Amino acid sequence: MSVDVGPLRKILDLEHSRGYSDSAVIGGLDRFLRNWAGPAMASVASRRTLSRFRRLGLDRPGYASLTVEERRQWATAVLDLLTELEREGDREPRPVPVQKAERPKRRARQQRAPAGTSLDSPITAIKGISSSTAARFGKLGVRTVRDLVYFFPNRHLDYSKRKTVSQLTEGEEETIIANVWQATEIRPGGRRSTEAIVGDETGNIRAVWFNNPYLVRQLAPSMRIVLSGRVRLFGGRYVFESPEWEPWQDTDLVHTGRLVPVYPLTQGLRPRQVRKLMKEAVDQWAWQVPEFLPEEVRERCHLLELPQAISQAHYPEDETLKARARVRLAFDELFILQLGVLSKKREWQEEQPGSPLPAGKQVLDTFLGSLPFKLTAAQDRVLAELLADLNKPQPMSRLLQGEVGSGKTVIATAGLLTATANDCQAALMAPTEILAEQHFATICRLLEAVAHTDGQADYVRTYSGLLPRPLTVALLLGATPAAQKRDLHRRIRDGGIDIIVGTHALIQKEVEFCRLAFAVVDEQHRFGVEQRSSLRQKGHNPHVLVMTATPIPRTLALTLYGDLDLSVIDELPPGRQAVKTKWLKPGQRQSAYNFLRREVSGGRQAFIICPLIEESEAVQARAAMAEHDRLSREVFPDLRLGLLHGRMSATDKERVMRRFHAGELDILVSTAVVEVGIDVPNATVMMVEGADRFGLSQLHQFRGRVGRGTEQSYCMLMADDPSDVGLRRLDTIKNIQNNFQLAEEDLKLRGPGEFFGTRQSGLPDLRMAKLSDVPLLELARSEAQTLFEEDSALEKPEHALLVKEMTRVWSAEAGEWS
Ligand code: ADP
Ligand code: MG
Repeated sequence: MSVDVGPLRKILDLEHSRGYSDSAVIGGLDRFLRNWAGPAMASVASRRTLSRFRRLGLDRPGYASLTVEERRQWATAVLDLLTELEREGDREPRPVPVQKAERPKRRARQQRAPAGTSLDSPITAIKGISSSTAARFGKLGVRTVRDLVYFFPNRHLDYSKRKTVSQLTEGEEETIIANVWQATEIRPGGRRSTEAIVGDETGNIRAVWFNNPYLVRQLAPSMRIVLSGRVRLFGGRYVFESPEWEPWQDTDLVHTGRLVPVYPLTQGLRPRQVRKLMKEAVDQWAWQVPEFLPEEVRERCHLLELPQAISQAHYPEDETLKARARVRLAFDELFILQLGVLSKKREWQEEQPGSPLPAGKQVLDTFLGSLPFKLTAAQDRVLAELLADLNKPQPMSRLLQGEVGSGKTVIATAGLLTATANDCQAALMAPTEILAEQHFATICRLLEAVAHTDGQADYVRTYSGLLPRPLTVALLLGATPAAQKRDLHRRIRDGGIDIIVGTHALIQKEVEFCRLAFAVVDEQHRFGVEQRSSLRQKGHNPHVLVMTATPIPRTLALTLYGDLDLSVIDELPPGRQAVKTKWLKPGQRQSAYNFLRREVSGGRQAFIICPLIEESEAVQARAAMAEHDRLSREVFPDLRLGLLHGRMSATDKERVMRRFHAGELDILVSTAVVEVGIDVPNATVMMVEGADRFGLSQLHQFRGRVGRGTEQSYCMLMADDPSDVGLRRLDTIKNIQNNFQLAEEDLKLRGPGEFFGTRQSGLPDLRMAKLSDVPLLELARSEAQTLFEEDSALEKPEHALLVKEMTRVWSAEAGEWS
């Protein structure tokens, strides 16, 4: 590869005609050179040219500080070199390993990769990284050189404001360049420390480093250093307290005098050490990261080149470049995500056709006619979308979003029946056993209104009268006894079961469907892309409907679930009342208990959610048991209390839920496990302890457990000592009942990671991208679509690097799902 010398030649010619006034490029020639030199050097093939390159200082330019005559001489020499480079480009390039002895004393800003190493080498390939340091980086998820180059700082300290000693002000982050006049060990309060007097032409100032006597030896008298930090006033005089410092040089500062990165650390890694390592690693390796974005996309979106973006994300020259670096890297994440999602959709839709399932009009009419209510307009619309999709030979991939209680299950059931009317099988998969059972019960109830049931086992029911043949519905859980499981597996394989409801048990390999044509996945944010596709593989490319009550803002849904078309039920059945939401202070707990007692004596039921202590289920379970104990003994000794937590066996959970459902319990004390989909219309009070510790969407889900019947319902949020964010959350939930509006707020208050829970969805990690950055999301999405339209198989040669990057990013994630 040859260097593109054209632009620099033009600039130097222009400089010549402008009398070497450094006006040819905006921002000065030095800045231009810093960006140009890296890639240029990386492609220089001959050692001789490389050392000329360095002798001219192209890797650490200082044009601005030269006199006009010096500039003229330098520019002439550089033009000569450019001619040389051009000639070299015509010859066959011959890689020459850079040998240690050849390196100039001060390391060049950007270098070539040492022979035999690549971005995929372990980080020990980098000089100065021992295996013990590597192990520490390993804890931060950094293993390869590439990981390291992509190990971005959390933030930057702004030490770019250079002052003179006389200009220093108290409390600001500032930087000076000064000479060391003397350095001595002092012992304030017995702590061995270093004190130095440093100064410039405007005055002197004291600097103190506590607990660090070793600096005395490093700070040699009359050495020039750069100091960055905050100045404090002590006894009427300024002093730098433990400032960052390093020997002065005109470029390439690491700890001072610039935007200084602050990296995530772990035990055994020190900030100075990591910064230094990162500087070297980035200087050497950022330029080896291949630019995988097609030139066209990069230019259309005004994005920095990848190596420059990486380098600026670590050690930015200024705030503007830092911001542009972030945009570029965030764009990459979203773009790759979107392309991956689109490719998956294409695989599903094009590789093998699905089976069209025309609506069985008579069956549907009978079913809908038997419902004790009329569908809402939103349900009608969504049902039409669903039926239209099912009727197509391409397999459907649709996301059905709708508030808790908006009537998604009815729509899904219509789809399940359509499949069976076409003599095919259908499945419904839920994330928990309780939910799966609830769905099973709901579907059975809906069918009982239109068909006769032939008395059958708990886990399988047969209905006649709706289809020309009997219709069999079954429930398959992880907890299903082995003998029943075997029986079900056999009947599913033989086609003896039409509709099968269950949990993850449905995607185990023992489960073979005879002719699965339609699959519904409920509460989708708990399943990953990979799980969606394992269910898909159970049939001959079945139609898939994914249902969620989690309100995901539209742009986000389109990005994260871009493989799915979107249907929204944005309307609740008539007659639903808003849940009255109140936020209570600790002193009001007793009156909350009194209120709860009144509701119970009126025949209603209540939930009490235990505070979130930590993520551990075991700890949560213990806390819930203690709370249940306390409430039963001290507060409600006369009422019937039940307990629900994640450590209970599925059977025990089920027993408790059944009793609560049947009205045999007045109050259900629970951990957050109750969050998902429990339907008890007689429950009217939801009391949440430690409400400030839950996320907005979780609080909303809790609230969704009540207000499901016709009675006025209440949500009482207890918060003992809420943080600021906690307070804002409580305020938001109190004032907003609308699901989607809440979701937008939630995204603003928390990051997307939290929004989806830690183990989100098998999608690539987003580290630089913020899902609240809607314009960038949309840009990445539309670019991905454009590219996809023009090369949907991604087989054009100019997309080869992009495909490689996609494979890398996506396969790293897929590993999590086994
Ligand atoms: P989701 O699955 O969206 O939470 P469901 O389908 O379970 O909601 O419906 C919640 C409740 O509302 C059920 O009892 C259901 O029978 C009832 N329901 C559904 N659609 C309507 C409607 N259009 N009018 C009145 N009630 C409805
Ligand atoms: Mg539901």
